[in-house]
Amino acid sequence: MFIRLSRKGECGVMKDSETKKSIKQDAARIAALLTDSDYPICITGAGVSTDSGIPDFRSPETGLWNQEEAKELSKPGAFRISELTLDEKMELFWRVGYKLGKKIMKAKPNKAHKILADWEKDGIMKSIITQNVDRLHQKAGSQNVIEIHGNAFEAKCMFCGGSYRLKDVMRRYKRKKRAPWCDVCAGFIRPNVVMFGESTPSETIQEALVEIKQADLALVLGSSLIVYPANYLPVIVRKRGGKLVIINDQSTDLDKVSEVVVNASITRVMKEINKALN
Ligand SMILES: [Zn+2]
Repeated sequence: MFIRLSRKGECGVMKDSETKKSIKQDAARIAALLTDSDYPICITGAGVSTDSGIPDFRSPETGLWNQEEAKELSKPGAFRISELTLDEKMELFWRVGYKLGKKIMKAKPNKAHKILADWEKDGIMKSIITQNVDRLHQKAGSQNVIEIHGNAFEAKCMFCGGSYRLKDVMRRYKRKKRAPWCDVCAGFIRPNVVMFGESTPSETIQEALVEIKQADLALVLGSSLIVYPANYLPVIVRKRGGKLVIINDQSTDLDKVSEVVVNASITRVMKEINKALN
Protein backbone atom coordinates (compact mmCIF):
# COMPACT_ATOMS: atom_id res chain seq x y z
CA MET A 1 0.00 0.00 0.00
CA PHE A 2 1.37 3.39 -0.97
CA ILE A 3 0.34 6.75 0.36
CA ARG A 4 1.61 10.07 -0.87
CA LEU A 5 3.05 11.98 2.02
CA SER A 6 4.90 15.24 1.98
CA ARG A 7 6.71 17.35 4.49
CA LYS A 8 8.21 20.79 4.23
CA GLY A 9 10.41 20.78 1.16
CA GLU A 10 10.01 17.12 0.24
CA CYS A 11 7.43 14.89 -1.32
CA GLY A 12 7.25 11.46 -2.85
CA VAL A 13 5.84 7.96 -2.56
CA MET A 14 6.47 5.95 0.59
CA LYS A 15 5.78 2.44 1.84
CA ASP A 16 3.17 2.10 4.57
CA SER A 17 5.77 1.36 7.28
CA GLU A 18 7.72 4.48 6.29
CA THR A 19 4.48 6.47 6.24
CA LYS A 20 3.65 5.27 9.75
CA LYS A 21 7.06 6.30 11.04
CA SER A 22 6.87 9.62 9.25
CA ILE A 23 3.38 10.41 10.60
CA LYS A 24 4.65 9.64 14.11
CA GLN A 25 7.57 12.04 13.64
CA ASP A 26 5.33 14.76 12.23
CA ALA A 27 2.82 14.23 15.06
CA ALA A 28 5.61 14.67 17.61
CA ARG A 29 6.68 17.93 15.94
CA ILE A 30 3.07 19.18 15.90
CA ALA A 31 2.63 18.22 19.58
CA ALA A 32 5.77 20.21 20.43
CA LEU A 33 4.47 23.25 18.51
CA LEU A 34 1.14 23.01 20.38
CA THR A 35 2.92 22.78 23.72
CA ASP A 36 5.09 25.82 22.91
CA SER A 37 2.19 27.91 21.64
CA ASP A 38 0.49 30.50 23.86
CA TYR A 39 -2.61 30.80 21.69
CA PRO A 40 -3.16 27.90 19.28
CA ILE A 41 -6.30 27.90 17.15
CA CYS A 42 -7.71 25.45 14.65
CA ILE A 43 -9.19 26.13 11.21
CA THR A 44 -11.27 23.22 9.91
CA GLY A 45 -12.76 22.29 6.55
CA ALA A 46 -14.76 19.46 4.99
CA GLY A 47 -11.93 16.91 5.40
CA VAL A 48 -12.56 16.77 9.16
CA SER A 49 -16.12 15.54 8.60
CA THR A 50 -15.63 13.02 5.78
CA ASP A 51 -14.97 10.29 8.39
CA SER A 52 -18.43 11.13 9.78
CA GLY A 53 -19.99 10.34 6.40
CA ILE A 54 -20.45 13.90 5.13
CA PRO A 55 -19.12 14.27 1.58
CA ASP A 56 -16.41 16.80 0.80
CA PHE A 57 -18.01 19.41 -1.46
CA ARG A 58 -14.98 19.75 -3.66
CA SER A 59 -13.08 16.47 -3.75
CA PRO A 60 -12.41 15.45 -7.39
CA GLU A 61 -13.97 11.96 -7.14
CA THR A 62 -16.93 12.20 -4.80
CA GLY A 63 -17.38 15.93 -4.20
CA LEU A 64 -21.05 16.83 -4.02
CA TRP A 65 -20.67 19.85 -6.27
CA ASN A 66 -19.12 17.77 -9.03
CA GLN A 67 -22.25 15.70 -9.38
CA GLU A 68 -24.16 16.67 -12.52
CA GLU A 69 -27.37 17.70 -10.76
CA ALA A 70 -25.62 19.95 -8.27
CA LYS A 71 -23.39 21.76 -10.76
CA GLU A 72 -25.91 24.52 -11.39
CA LEU A 73 -25.89 25.33 -7.67
CA SER A 74 -22.11 25.44 -7.37
CA LYS A 75 -21.72 28.36 -9.76
CA PRO A 76 -20.75 31.57 -7.99
CA GLY A 77 -23.89 33.57 -7.25
CA ALA A 78 -26.10 30.57 -8.06
CA PHE A 79 -29.04 32.26 -6.41
CA ARG A 80 -28.63 35.45 -8.38
CA ILE A 81 -27.43 34.79 -11.92
CA SER A 82 -28.57 31.71 -13.76
CA GLU A 83 -30.58 30.54 -16.73
CA LEU A 84 -33.01 28.92 -14.31
CA THR A 85 -35.87 30.84 -12.68
CA LEU A 86 -35.82 31.15 -8.88
CA ASP A 87 -38.62 28.56 -8.66
CA GLU A 88 -36.62 26.05 -10.71
CA LYS A 89 -33.46 26.75 -8.73
CA MET A 90 -35.19 26.25 -5.39
CA GLU A 91 -36.73 22.96 -6.53
CA LEU A 92 -33.27 21.79 -7.65
CA PHE A 93 -31.68 23.09 -4.45
CA TRP A 94 -34.08 21.13 -2.27
CA ARG A 95 -33.82 17.97 -4.37
CA VAL A 96 -30.02 17.96 -3.93
CA GLY A 97 -29.94 19.60 -0.50
CA TYR A 98 -32.52 17.32 1.12
CA LYS A 99 -30.27 14.26 0.77
CA LEU A 100 -27.29 16.15 2.17
CA GLY A 101 -29.43 17.67 4.93
CA LYS A 102 -30.49 14.21 6.09
CA LYS A 103 -26.85 13.07 6.20
CA ILE A 104 -25.84 16.14 8.21
CA MET A 105 -28.70 15.74 10.72
CA LYS A 106 -27.76 12.12 11.42
CA ALA A 107 -23.95 12.51 11.39
CA LYS A 108 -21.96 11.84 14.54
CA PRO A 109 -18.64 13.44 15.50
CA ASN A 110 -15.56 11.35 14.76
CA LYS A 111 -12.33 10.96 16.72
CA ALA A 112 -10.82 14.17 15.30
CA HIS A 113 -13.81 16.24 16.52
CA LYS A 114 -13.60 14.55 19.93
CA ILE A 115 -9.87 15.14 20.32
CA LEU A 116 -10.35 18.84 19.47
CA ALA A 117 -13.12 19.09 22.09
CA ASP A 118 -10.85 17.45 24.70
CA TRP A 119 -8.05 19.85 23.79
CA GLU A 120 -10.36 22.81 24.40
CA LYS A 121 -11.25 21.46 27.87
CA ASP A 122 -7.57 20.88 28.64
CA GLY A 123 -6.58 24.36 27.45
CA ILE A 124 -4.51 22.96 24.56
CA MET A 125 -6.71 24.55 21.86
CA LYS A 126 -8.29 28.00 22.26
CA SER A 127 -10.87 28.04 19.48
CA ILE A 128 -12.04 26.55 16.20
CA ILE A 129 -12.91 28.50 13.07
CA THR A 130 -14.81 26.14 10.78
CA GLN A 131 -16.02 26.14 7.19
CA ASN A 132 -18.29 23.22 8.05
CA VAL A 133 -22.02 23.67 8.52
CA ASP A 134 -22.58 20.30 10.24
CA ARG A 135 -22.24 21.33 13.93
CA LEU A 136 -20.08 18.25 14.59
CA HIS A 137 -17.56 20.28 16.62
CA GLN A 138 -20.36 21.37 18.97
CA LYS A 139 -21.83 17.85 19.07
CA ALA A 140 -18.38 16.63 20.18
CA GLY A 141 -18.34 19.21 23.00
CA SER A 142 -16.34 22.15 21.60
CA GLN A 143 -17.78 25.48 22.74
CA ASN A 144 -15.61 28.15 21.19
CA VAL A 145 -16.54 27.55 17.54
CA ILE A 146 -16.94 30.21 14.85
CA GLU A 147 -18.91 29.00 11.81
CA ILE A 148 -17.83 31.13 8.86
CA HIS A 149 -20.24 29.40 6.47
CA GLY A 150 -23.21 29.35 8.85
CA ASN A 151 -24.87 26.14 9.99
CA ALA A 152 -27.28 23.76 8.33
CA PHE A 153 -29.55 23.35 11.34
CA GLU A 154 -31.12 26.75 10.87
CA ALA A 155 -33.13 27.93 7.88
CA LYS A 156 -34.28 31.37 6.83
CA CYS A 157 -36.78 32.99 4.51
CA MET A 158 -34.98 34.52 1.54
CA PHE A 159 -37.38 37.48 1.50
CA CYS A 160 -38.25 38.52 5.09
CA GLY A 161 -35.35 36.74 6.85
CA GLY A 162 -37.73 34.86 9.18
CA SER A 163 -35.95 31.95 10.87
CA TYR A 164 -36.96 28.29 10.96
CA ARG A 165 -35.51 25.01 12.18
CA LEU A 166 -34.22 23.08 9.20
CA LYS A 167 -35.65 19.89 10.69
CA ASP A 168 -39.20 21.29 10.46
CA VAL A 169 -38.66 22.64 6.96
CA MET A 170 -37.28 19.29 5.79
CA ARG A 171 -40.37 17.55 7.13
CA ARG A 172 -42.52 19.88 5.03
CA TYR A 173 -40.42 19.14 1.94
CA LYS A 174 -40.74 15.41 2.53
CA ARG A 175 -44.55 15.70 2.74
CA LYS A 176 -45.13 17.97 -0.25
CA LYS A 177 -42.05 17.33 -2.42
CA ARG A 178 -42.03 21.06 -3.18
CA ALA A 179 -39.52 23.74 -2.13
CA PRO A 180 -40.92 25.02 1.19
CA TRP A 181 -42.03 28.64 1.59
CA CYS A 182 -42.38 31.11 4.45
CA ASP A 183 -45.54 31.17 6.62
CA VAL A 184 -45.42 34.96 6.80
CA CYS A 185 -44.52 36.17 3.30
CA ALA A 186 -44.50 33.03 1.11
CA GLY A 187 -40.81 33.64 0.26
CA PHE A 188 -38.60 30.61 -0.32
CA ILE A 189 -36.92 29.05 2.71
CA ARG A 190 -33.31 27.85 2.52
CA PRO A 191 -30.70 26.67 5.03
CA ASN A 192 -28.83 29.48 6.74
CA VAL A 193 -25.50 28.65 5.10
CA VAL A 194 -23.12 30.67 2.95
CA MET A 195 -23.37 29.38 -0.63
CA PHE A 196 -20.82 29.74 -3.44
CA GLY A 197 -20.31 33.38 -4.34
CA GLU A 198 -22.05 34.64 -1.18
CA SER A 199 -20.22 36.50 1.59
CA THR A 200 -19.65 35.54 5.20
CA PRO A 201 -21.54 38.06 7.40
CA SER A 202 -19.16 40.80 8.56
CA GLU A 203 -19.90 40.15 12.28
CA THR A 204 -18.67 36.58 11.80
CA ILE A 205 -15.51 37.79 10.07
CA GLN A 206 -14.91 40.15 13.00
CA GLU A 207 -15.32 37.27 15.49
CA ALA A 208 -12.86 35.18 13.49
CA LEU A 209 -10.37 38.06 13.38
CA VAL A 210 -10.41 38.40 17.18
CA GLU A 211 -9.12 34.81 17.35
CA ILE A 212 -6.78 35.09 14.36
CA LYS A 213 -5.06 38.19 15.78
CA GLN A 214 -4.24 36.41 19.04
CA ALA A 215 -3.10 33.17 17.41
CA ASP A 216 0.59 32.30 17.35
CA LEU A 217 -0.18 28.87 15.84
CA ALA A 218 -2.93 27.80 13.43
CA LEU A 219 -3.61 24.12 12.88
CA VAL A 220 -5.41 23.83 9.53
CA LEU A 221 -7.36 20.56 9.27
CA GLY A 222 -9.05 19.17 6.18
CA SER A 223 -9.31 22.39 4.22
CA SER A 224 -8.17 22.70 0.62
CA LEU A 225 -7.72 26.44 1.36
CA ILE A 226 -9.40 27.43 -1.89
CA VAL A 227 -12.47 29.24 -0.60
CA TYR A 228 -12.27 32.83 0.66
CA PRO A 229 -12.19 33.90 3.53
CA ALA A 230 -11.01 30.56 4.98
CA ASN A 231 -7.92 30.59 2.76
CA TYR A 232 -6.94 34.08 3.91
CA LEU A 233 -7.22 33.52 7.68
CA PRO A 234 -3.99 31.46 7.94
CA VAL A 235 -2.23 34.07 5.79
CA ILE A 236 -3.04 36.69 8.46
CA VAL A 237 -1.66 34.40 11.18
CA ARG A 238 1.59 34.10 9.17
CA LYS A 239 1.80 37.83 8.45
CA ARG A 240 1.55 38.52 12.18
CA GLY A 241 4.43 36.16 12.93
CA GLY A 242 2.43 33.03 13.80
CA LYS A 243 3.12 29.49 12.60
CA LEU A 244 1.03 27.16 10.43
CA VAL A 245 0.51 23.41 10.47
CA ILE A 246 -1.51 21.81 7.67
CA ILE A 247 -3.09 18.36 7.76
CA ASN A 248 -5.07 17.56 4.61
CA ASP A 249 -5.46 14.80 2.03
CA GLN A 250 -4.18 17.05 -0.77
CA SER A 251 -1.54 19.75 -1.03
CA THR A 252 -2.52 23.40 -0.54
CA ASP A 253 -1.09 26.75 -1.65
CA LEU A 254 0.15 27.44 1.88
CA ASP A 255 2.18 24.22 2.26
CA LYS A 256 5.43 26.01 1.44
CA VAL A 257 5.04 28.49 4.30
CA SER A 258 3.96 25.93 6.91
CA GLU A 259 6.09 24.41 9.68
CA VAL A 260 4.65 20.92 9.17
CA VAL A 261 2.48 19.55 6.34
CA VAL A 262 0.95 16.09 6.56
CA ASN A 263 -1.04 14.65 3.66
CA ALA A 264 -2.79 11.76 5.38
CA SER A 265 -6.01 10.79 7.15
CA ILE A 266 -6.92 13.51 9.64
CA THR A 267 -8.26 11.16 12.31
CA ARG A 268 -5.11 9.05 12.06
CA VAL A 269 -2.79 12.05 12.44
CA MET A 270 -4.89 13.58 15.24
CA LYS A 271 -4.72 10.32 17.21
CA GLU A 272 -0.93 10.33 16.84
CA ILE A 273 -0.66 13.98 17.97
CA ASN A 274 -2.87 13.19 20.95
CA LYS A 275 -0.62 10.26 21.88
CA ALA A 276 2.46 12.47 21.58
CA LEU A 277 0.85 15.07 23.88
CA ASN A 278 0.04 12.54 26.62
ZN1 LIG B 1 -40.73 35.37 4.84
